Amino acid sequence: MKGLGVEQGTSPPIAENLARVRQSIAAAARATGRAPGDITLIAVTKSHGADRIGTALHAGHRVFGENRVQEAERKWPAIRQDFADAELHMIGHLQSNKAADAVALFDVIHSVDRPKLAAALAKEMVKAGRRPPCFVQVNTGEEAQKGGVVPGAAAALVAACRTKYDLPVAGLMCIPPADDEPSPHFALLADLARRLGLAGLSMGMSGDYEVAVRLGATHVRVGTSIFGPRGSP
Ligand SMILES: *Cc1c(COP(=O)(O)O)cnc(C)c1O
Repeated sequence: MKGLGVEQGTSPPIAENLARVRQSIAAAARATGRAPGDITLIAVTKSHGADRIGTALHAGHRVFGENRVQEAERKWPAIRQDFADAELHMIGHLQSNKAADAVALFDVIHSVDRPKLAAALAKEMVKAGRRPPCFVQVNTGEEAQKGGVVPGAAAALVAACRTKYDLPVAGLMCIPPADDEPSPHFALLADLARRLGLAGLSMGMSGDYEVAVRLGATHVRVGTSIFGPRGSP
């Protein structure tokens, strides 16, 4: 792709940042007796353009996350022409009327949080003949403005996803409240997942991904520590 790999003086050192984040993940994994390879680093590219994404791709990274369907649809088809093996994760709130687009575009969906969305995704997966693994998002802080099923209703939603909708449920996801100590939220999510027999745990962002790995994260979603602050040049 033209222009990829060209960095301006003000651009963050993306390749170095990726290497450092990978090292931190590996150290946190080993500290708890886990294999670094068991943790997937999702490089979150929301608000960043093809130049920064290209730098990460040229540095060998292949797993990315976006939080809005429309933004991802604008950016990723062109990038994928050159990097067909790039894997794209949907990590943001998903409207039911975007389910078809999400199933077509994303390889993993982290934000299943209500029956209506589960039903819409299930229907579109049958139509498309494509079954991207799904995470059920849990609102561990029970915040009114945040997506996710409350912890007390998670088991019922997971059961419905499995039996009623036949969704490929891979695990649970959470975004702890910004002002809270994250570890109790990660521990709660890990405990819920264990009880529900789910192996996947999508938790941890730039500020807390090492804590998340120590508490069992299988997928960490890191943006700022790789690409710099969003909205910067
Ligand atoms: C933006 C975002 C991230 C990445 O956040 P950083 O703090 O920039 O690492 C992770 N998860 C979700 C759901 C996000 O929307």
